[in-house]
Amino acid sequence: MHETLPLLEISDFPALRREKIDTLQVNIGYRCNQTCVHCHVNAGPTRTEMMSEENLALVSEVLRAREISTLDVTGGAPELHAGFRALVRAARAQGVHVMDRCNLTILFEPGQEDLAEFLAQNRVEVVASLPCYSLDNVDKQRGKGVFDKSIAALQQLNALGYGKPGSGLVLNLVYNPQGPFLPPNQQMLEADYRRELSEHFGIVFNHLFALANMPIKRFGSTLVSKGQFADYMQLLRDSYSAANLDGVMCRSLVSVDWQGNLYDCDFNQQLGVAVPGNMHLRDLLRQDLRNSPIRVADHCYGCTAGQGSSCGGAL
Ligand code: SF4
Ligand code: SF4
Repeated sequence: MHETLPLLEISDFPALRREKIDTLQVNIGYRCNQTCVHCHVNAGPTRTEMMSEENLALVSEVLRAREISTLDVTGGAPELHAGFRALVRAARAQGVHVMDRCNLTILFEPGQEDLAEFLAQNRVEVVASLPCYSLDNVDKQRGKGVFDKSIAALQQLNALGYGKPGSGLVLNLVYNPQGPFLPPNQQMLEADYRRELSEHFGIVFNHLFALANMPIKRFGSTLVSKGQFADYMQLLRDSYSAANLDGVMCRSLVSVDWQGNLYDCDFNQQLGVAVPGNMHLRDLLRQDLRNSPIRVADHCYGCTAGQGSSCGGAL
């Protein structure tokens, strides 16, 4: 795989500094029931990297110490970690909003039969990747049979109230483009998803997040192989919108890897670019990072291009 960090490090992207941390985004391990070709952490059933009990306990302590309002749990399939449910319960007991980056098919894995009920009981927001509303595109990207299982999972979540008005159970979907172009208008795409999923499968959801592809890891490597890296970077630069700078997620989010190391965002985690000073979760018990510099590079143009892009979709 081509490393793209050397192509990104010399950058004129504006300097950024942190504000108060609102969201702790924690990758609790690389084990997953799927092996998607595009997976940026190469997750799969044989991966053994899982967050330790000690670091899971630290997550709860940091949420309390820094008065962080949202815990965003990711992986792998985070639900496969034996400590996932205890982590969720501990955060909810503190009044923290919890988001589960759920691949949907996990609901049908052995031992996960009651997962949907657990998520509903704990009022966990479900954020699920669904790169298209057609079988062919989803199965091509995420594996054979994934589309049908994803649809069945969404129907199961809907039956519990997820995505339904007034239920308070939030179900959001995530889209990212299949190639080197920016996502279409989020509102229009959301309308398309709503119509297609409702008409064909009776599925409802709250919002669709349209995310731009970052020129890093597997996607970046493919761009290099195809000789498209410079053109894609030019597209991101040409689409720069300064208005998006205020909303980039790294201002209010910290990303944590399975070993407890801190990054300014998940993309920097994927690039192995740690926060200045190479800090660990335990360091957040005594300092809050407010006003500290963010490690920006050219991939940051992916967050400010066009309508802007973050873990919560367009800015
Ligand atoms: S479901 Fe997500 S974590 Fe699992 S292999 Fe696919 S992209 Fe990776
Ligand atoms: S890539 Fe990360 S560090 Fe750069 S602007 Fe986006 S969120 Fe911030």
